[in-house]
Amino acid sequence: MFDASVALVARFGPDSTVVETNATDAETLERLAALGRQLREGDREATFPWSDGSRRYLSNVSSAGDGTWWTVTLDVTGIADLSGRGRTDALTGLASREQVLDRLAGVIERLEHDPTPVAVAVIELDEFDGLVDRHGRALADSLLVATAERLDRTIRAADVAGRLGGGNFAVVFGAPISESEATVVAERLLREIRAVRLPDHPDVALTGCVGVAFATVVLPPEQLLDEAAKAVDLARLAGRGRFAVVDDDAREHLEWTRRRSVDLRMAIEHDQFELRYQPVIALADGSMVGVEALVRWQHPTDGLLLPDEFVSLAERTGLIGGLTERVLKGALRQLGEWQAHRRSLVVSVNVSASDLLADGFAEDVLRWCVDLGADPTGLRIELTETAVLAEVQHAIEVIARLRSAGVTVALDDFGTGYATLATLRKLPLDSLKIDQSFVAGLPDHPADVAVVKLVIGLAEQLGVTTVAEGVETEAQRDLLTAAGCTYGQGFLFSQPVPADQLAG
Ligand code: C2E
Ligand code: CA
Ligand code: CA
Repeated sequence: MFDASVALVARFGPDSTVVETNATDAETLERLAALGRQLREGDREATFPWSDGSRRYLSNVSSAGDGTWWTVTLDVTGIADLSGRGRTDALTGLASREQVLDRLAGVIERLEHDPTPVAVAVIELDEFDGLVDRHGRALADSLLVATAERLDRTIRAADVAGRLGGGNFAVVFGAPISESEATVVAERLLREIRAVRLPDHPDVALTGCVGVAFATVVLPPEQLLDEAAKAVDLARLAGRGRFAVVDDDAREHLEWTRRRSVDLRMAIEHDQFELRYQPVIALADGSMVGVEALVRWQHPTDGLLLPDEFVSLAERTGLIGGLTERVLKGALRQLGEWQAHRRSLVVSVNVSASDLLADGFAEDVLRWCVDLGADPTGLRIELTETAVLAEVQHAIEVIARLRSAGVTVALDDFGTGYATLATLRKLPLDSLKIDQSFVAGLPDHPADVAVVKLVIGLAEQLGVTTVAEGVETEAQRDLLTAAGCTYGQGFLFSQPVPADQLAG
C-alpha cells in the first residue's frame, strides 16, 4: 500500500464522491472531496497548491471504465515543478520559458468566459551581461539562483515564477490581480532583487526593472509576454530599478505614454511642478486650520497639467517616488516658512501606495522635515484605502513611525475603497476625508446624507476628525456642520491657489 501522506490514490464516483482511497483521516478525505468537485476526466497533469500549504502533483485523471475515475496525487513540496519534467529551468528550478508560456496560455483561456483581466510580469536584471563579464559566470549563476529563490518566495500560491533566460524572469499571475495590486507586487519584486546578497560577496548587489502587461481579450501568450518585456523597456526609460504597467489603453497609446513618461522624468529632474494650496476650514467657526497641497505640472509645450493627467502615469511607470519627493519637499519648505512666521497651518500631502511602501519612506520624510526647517507636527499625509490595503501590516508600521514623530495621517476619498471596519480599527489614523462624491449628493439625496452621517458617527467612535471634500454650497456646509463634521474643503471656501494668494 502507498503511504497516503505521499501518494494519495482515490477513485471518484460519477457524482464526484470518493468511492475508494488509501486515505484514512477525515481531513484528507475532506480535501479529496473538494478535489473531486473540481476534477473532470481528462484533466491534464498538473502541480497545484494543496489546502494544507504543500504542493501536490496530480497525474492524469483516468476513467476506470465503469463511470468512476482514478486519480493519483503526490506530495511534491520542495521538489521543483514535476509537471514539466526536464523542462524546468535547469539552473534555478523555476519554470522554463516554455512552461511560462504554457501556464500563461491557460490563464489567458479564462478570458473566453470571464472578462477579469489577466496579467504577466517580466523582470529583467539591470546590466546582467556586464555583471557576468566583471564577476564571471559562476558568481552570476549564484546570483540567479538567489534571485529565483526570492522571487519564488514572494509570489502568491496561485502565481508561477519562471526564468526566461539570462537575467530575465517572469511571473504569471494565476489569480486575478488589479492594476494597483500589480504596482505593489512590482515594487515588492524590485525590493526582493535589491535584497539579493551572496554570503561570500556581500558587496555585489542587483537592481532590476519590472514590466507588467494586462490583457482583457484573448491573445497569444507570446504576445502578452512580449508586451510585458516592452513595459520593461518603458520602465528602463525611467531609470534603474523601476517598473511599468501597461493595459489595453496604455497599449494603444504606447508611443504617447512613452513620450509622456520621458517628459515626466525630465519634469522630476528639473522640478517643473507647482503647488496649489486649498484651505481646510473648521466648520464650527469658519477659520482656516490647514491646506492641502495639490500638484500641477508646468509642461514645456502643453501648458499647466492637472494631476489626473499625469499622477497615474507616474504611478504606472515607477516615477511616482520622484514626484512625491518634489511635492513633499516643496510643501515642507512652505510649511517651514509659515512656521517661521508663527502661522500654524497643517499642510496635507497626497501619498501613493508605492511611496508609502518604498524602503525608508518614513525616514526620508522626517529627514526632509529637518533639512527644510519644518516641524513634522505641521505635516499631514493623505493615504487612500487602496494604498493602505495593499499591505496592511507594512502600512501600519510606516504610519506608526511617522506618527511617533508628530506627523498626522488622513484616509483620503473615504468610502470609495474597500477598507473593512476591522481593518479601519487597526489603522493608526487622525482623520477621515469624506469623498466628494457623497458630499455632492447633499442635502437632497437621502442615501448620501445617510452615508455622510454614518462616516461622521464612525469617526467619532474611532476618535478621529472628519474632513468633507468638495463642499460647494452653503446647504452642504450647513448640513455637514449640523451633522458634526469637523472640517470642510471645497470651492465654497476657496479654489486651490498659490501660497501667496491664501487669505490671512
Ligand atoms: P484629492 O486628493 O481628492 O484632491 C481634491 C481634488 O478635488 C483636487 O483636484 C481639488 O482641486 C478638487 N476640488 C477641491 N474642491 C472641490 C470642489 O468643491 N468641487 C470639486 N468638484 N472639486 C474640488 P486636483 O487638484 O485636480 O487633484 C486631483 C487628485 O489628484 C487629488 O484628489 C489627488 O488624489 C491627486 N493629487 C493631487 N496632488 C497630488 C500629489 O501631489 N501627489 C499625488 N500622489 N496625488 C495628487
Ligand atoms: Ca487628497
Ligand atoms: Ca480626496
